Amino acid sequence: MKTLSIGLIGTGYMGKCHALAWNAVASVFGDVPRPRLVMLAEASQELAERKAQELGFERATGDWRALVNDPGIDVVSITTPNAFHPDMAIAALEAGKHVWCEKPMATRLADAERMLAAARASGKVAALGYNYIQNPVMRLIRRILDEGQIGRVNHVRLEMDEDFMANADDLFYWKSEASSGHGALDDFGVHPLSLLWVLLGGVRRVCGHMAKPYAERPVQGGGRRAVETYDIATVLMELESGASGVLALNRSAWGRKGRIFVQIFGSNGTIVYDQERMNEVQLYTADGAKEAQGFRTILTGPQHPPYDKFIPAPGHGLGFNDLKIIECRELMRRIAGEKAHLIDFEDGIRIERTIDAMARSAHEGRWVEV
Ligand code: NAD
Repeated sequence: MKTLSIGLIGTGYMGKCHALAWNAVASVFGDVPRPRLVMLAEASQELAERKAQELGFERATGDWRALVNDPGIDVVSITTPNAFHPDMAIAALEAGKHVWCEKPMATRLADAERMLAAARASGKVAALGYNYIQNPVMRLIRRILDEGQIGRVNHVRLEMDEDFMANADDLFYWKSEASSGHGALDDFGVHPLSLLWVLLGGVRRVCGHMAKPYAERPVQGGGRRAVETYDIATVLMELESGASGVLALNRSAWGRKGRIFVQIFGSNGTIVYDQERMNEVQLYTADGAKEAQGFRTILTGPQHPPYDKFIPAPGHGLGFNDLKIIECRELMRRIAGEKAHLIDFEDGIRIERTIDAMARSAHEGRWVEV
C-alpha cells in the first residue's frame, strides 16, 4: 500500500474527527502506511495556520481551491457545511484526488447526482462519512441477521433524536434556512438510513410528514425570522425486501443527545440497538423454554472486529471518534484496490434519492416511489 498524502478542508467538529483519524489510523491498525498530513484549508489563512499546528498538518491555506489543485495531495477530506460539498468534491475529483466527504452529499438531489457523475468520470474513490456503519456492533447485527437468528425480517423502526434545536429561544442560524436542505431528514435522517442500507438494503416507497415545532426564532440584534426547515420528520417506508418500516426524526427532542434507536423485528426474534449505548446490542430470540426467554445484552469486545485493534479487554467500549478511524482504514483499503466496507457516492446517492422522495412525499401528501 502506498503512503497517502492528505488534504483536509474544514476543522470544526468533523474536521477534527477526520484529522484525529488520519493521525491515528496507522497506529491503531498497524497494517496501513502512516499517511502524510500535507495541507489543511480553512475559511481564513490565520485560522488555517493555527489549526495546521494543532492537528499536525505541514502546510495551511485560506483557499480550498489551492488545496484541491496541489499536485502533492492524494486524498481530500471535506468536512465543511453541506452546501460546500458539491463544489469542493467535484473540483477535487476533477483534479484527480480521492475524496472523503462528510454526509449528506449535498443539499439538493441534483447536486448529489453531479457529484456522482464527477466520481464516475474520475475513476477515483469517492467515499462518504457514514461512520455509524463502522461500529463493530453493526457487523455483529449483520451476522445475526445473516445467520437467521431472528428469522425473516418483517418490520424495522428507526428513530433519531437530538436536542440541539429544542430551545425555542435559541437564535435563528443556518440550519433553519431552506438553503441548508429540508431539515431533520437530510441533516441527520441520513444516518439511520445508512444503517438501514447496510443492514437491510434499499427502500422502495415512502409516505412522509414533516413538522416545524417552532414557526419562528429570534434573530441576533432583535426581531424574529420565520423558520424554513423542518426539525421533525416521520416517514412510513416499504423496503425493497418487502418489509415495512418507520423512520422518526426529531432534532428538537429535549433530553435526547445522540439517540439512534433501531428495532429490527423478525419472525423469530428482535434486535434492538441504541447509539447512546453504542457498545451493546439487545437480542431476543423465541428459542428454548418459554420461561427463560427474554432480551439479552451483548457487550462488544475483541471478538467483534475491529474492536481488538483498539483495546484487548471486552466491555471497555469504543467511542464516536474511533468509528472514524475504522472508516479511515476502510477508505485506505478501497484506495489500495482492496475490498472495503464503505458507503461511496454510488451507495450514497441511494440515500439521497430516498431522502428526496421522503421530502416530496411530505410536501405532496402521498406515497412516493424512491
Ligand atoms: P462545523 O461548523 O463544526 O465545521 C465546519 C468547518 O468548515 C468550520 O471549521 C469552518 O470554518 C469551515 N469552513 C467553512 N467555510 C469554509 C471554506 N470556504 N473553506 C474552508 N473551510 C471552511 O461543522 P460540522 O458540524 O463539522 O459539519 C461539517 C460537515 O460534517 C457537515 O456536512 C455535517 O453534516 C457533517 N457532520 C457529520 C457527522 C457524522 O457523524 N459523520 C457529524 C456532524 C456533522
